[in-house]
Amino acid sequence: MQKSINLDNNKITYTLKQSRRTRRMRLAVYCDGSVVVTQPYHLGESVVEKFLSDKSAWLLAKVTFFKQLQDREITHYSKADYLKYKQSAYGLASERLAYYNRFYQFSFNRVNIRNQKTRWGSCSRKGNLNFNYKILFLDHKTRDYIIVHELCHLKEFNHSQRFWGLVEKIFPDWRVIKKELRKNSLILE
Ligand SMILES: [Zn+2]
Repeated sequence: MQKSINLDNNKITYTLKQSRRTRRMRLAVYCDGSVVVTQPYHLGESVVEKFLSDKSAWLLAKVTFFKQLQDREITHYSKADYLKYKQSAYGLASERLAYYNRFYQFSFNRVNIRNQKTRWGSCSRKGNLNFNYKILFLDHKTRDYIIVHELCHLKEFNHSQRFWGLVEKIFPDWRVIKKELRKNSLILE
């Protein structure tokens, strides 16, 4: 059910789901900026607006963040953006790789940060890991999924069941993340 609410002079449209299984109110903001509220059936609709008002600061921050991200996606990033963010992206990618590789313990060669229009990341046969600098602007879970995805290609250079089995050890819900990522228009290889 589509609903809307006015929060600090911002009209927020959200999808309201009623659930018999959920015990608590739930609020999710997706990377396309859509907002979903899940309301436990027994609570009734009247609590929803109060709940959203209480969460308004968090909600507005998230929605604004994803909107800005989308605007940038459409207007394209400049070469200057790439040069500005490249180093931070490298630091971030290296840190997250080290973090997950404590678990996987694969060996890799170099980490490269690229400015690509169509790819989030790739892994070369020589064991070099390449990441788009725009991973900096993704939500943490999606970003970490990209890191883990490329890391697992060091062991399985394909998208076989064995490959997804490796990814699944960290992200059992990889299918959901993968679907979300597709909305972000770049491809993950
Ligand atoms: Zn892949």
